[in-house]
Amino acid sequence: MVDVVVVGAGLSGLVCARRLREAGAEIVVLEARDRVGGRVVNEPIAPGQVVEMGGQWVGPSHTEIRRVAAEVGVDTFPTYGEGKHLFAHAGRTTQFGGDIPARMPFGLVDFRIAQARLERLARHIDLGDPASTPRSRRHDTLTVETWIRRHMHTRSGRNLMRLMVKAVLATEPSELSLLHWLFYIASGGGLNSLVRADGGYQQDRFVGGSQEIALRLADDLGERVHLSAPVRRIEHTPEGVRVHTDTTTYDADAVVIAVPPHLLTTIEFCPALPATRNQLSVRMPPGMVTKFVAVYDEPFWRATGLSGQATLTSGPIGVTFDNSPPGGSPGALVAFALGEDARALENLDADERRAAVLERLAELFGPSAAEPTQFHERCWAREQWTRGGYAGIFGPGGWTSFGKILGRSHGRLFWASAETVVHAHGSMDAAVSAGERAAVEALATCLAEVPASR
Ligand SMILES: Cc1cc2nc3c(=O)[nH]c(=O)nc-3n(C[C@H](O)[C@H](O)[C@H](O)COP(=O)(O)OP(=O)(O)OC[C@H]3O[C@@H](n4cnc5c(N)ncnc54)[C@H](O)[C@@H]3O)c2cc1C
Repeated sequence: MVDVVVVGAGLSGLVCARRLREAGAEIVVLEARDRVGGRVVNEPIAPGQVVEMGGQWVGPSHTEIRRVAAEVGVDTFPTYGEGKHLFAHAGRTTQFGGDIPARMPFGLVDFRIAQARLERLARHIDLGDPASTPRSRRHDTLTVETWIRRHMHTRSGRNLMRLMVKAVLATEPSELSLLHWLFYIASGGGLNSLVRADGGYQQDRFVGGSQEIALRLADDLGERVHLSAPVRRIEHTPEGVRVHTDTTTYDADAVVIAVPPHLLTTIEFCPALPATRNQLSVRMPPGMVTKFVAVYDEPFWRATGLSGQATLTSGPIGVTFDNSPPGGSPGALVAFALGEDARALENLDADERRAAVLERLAELFGPSAAEPTQFHERCWAREQWTRGGYAGIFGPGGWTSFGKILGRSHGRLFWASAETVVHAHGSMDAAVSAGERAAVEALATCLAEVPASR
């Protein structure tokens, strides 16, 4: 018997559990994996040094995750971004400063006009209910690819916009509702904020890696966190809930389900969930991303005036960043394969994938890039308890049909996860906000039944 069962020990579930504990509730956190963190995970690269293979960056507007990090004593440090960035397009690589490459002037003008147009449309989005205006409903009938073809006029401008979508949401524009793209631009404070390091989403990283936050939250919760305990079945009645793992059954007043919507299909609910919730679980799939990190004795690109940031309009990788730990030793470059490029890489074996990625890095940063001391890869779609990344996204019709119920509780079932809040949707920051919201909701249910004297 506990007051609340929390399903999932990602950032959302762990923060939820922490707040419930602070309020005096008896809780248990059930995590399917043999580790905590979910979509944030560190891998060691040197004694005391790690790289992140999942979520890692925070911007200035990500105040919730920063607050929790500070609470558990994890500091931030700035993403390395000094020097020139690279832009690889149509067989040529050029260097540039600022946000957007200056080459391909016609394409750039096309891109800028399209960006301004998207941002104008995004300003009309009601973040609390993105599908609420008639115009939004029309936007929810289109894919972003359709919009690009209708409103952009140059090949290079279109390709740059496609890359932006892929870099920001790890999905193909043809898979994405225009309304989701507009909502996401609004939710993130504009397109520039989404792609920029300085002043934008990629501004800072966490010392010791983002998973350090999850590890410390779990440490504080102690034996209340149960690993390798996938939840298989949840029975729910007006009186309470019963949560089953393979070995144990927990009775509680409420359950917070802190897993992304598409993973609800892995749990049997009794009675079955309402039709729209069941449909949501198959209508908000995650994107497709593989993250590669190449480690070198030192960040050799810095000496040649390069920032390590590159933008590529053709695969197999789409963007790179300097991902060295604070102090820059050892050096690390992170590269993202996104959407179809990531799917195509899955047709290769591990050695071929490594060769394909290193060849591209060498074209960008010179022959030294082909000889890392370590090579790390993580394809999130291969992970049983994630199945894609960065987060769930809506295709056409998604917001209109399911937007309103994303975070809406059902009896004694409460939903967390980064997909269920609007600010910085899909980010670590959103995961924290969702966990805190769900804790309050679940607590209200428990308190409603607990005598004042307890
Ligand atoms: C490659 C990648 C890069 C990213 N980059 C960034 C970034 O730079 N900045 C940023 O802010 N965000 C980024 N994100 C997104 C961010 O990592 C996530 O939004 C956030 O970590 C989600 O946290 P969550 O707790 O909501 O979900 P999750 O982390 O997915 O946690 C859910 C947990 O539930 C567990 N679980 C699932 N099913 C069950 C079950 N049946 N029983 C028990 N447990 C279960 C899972 O194992 C998991 O631990 C990135 C994500 C990826 C994949």
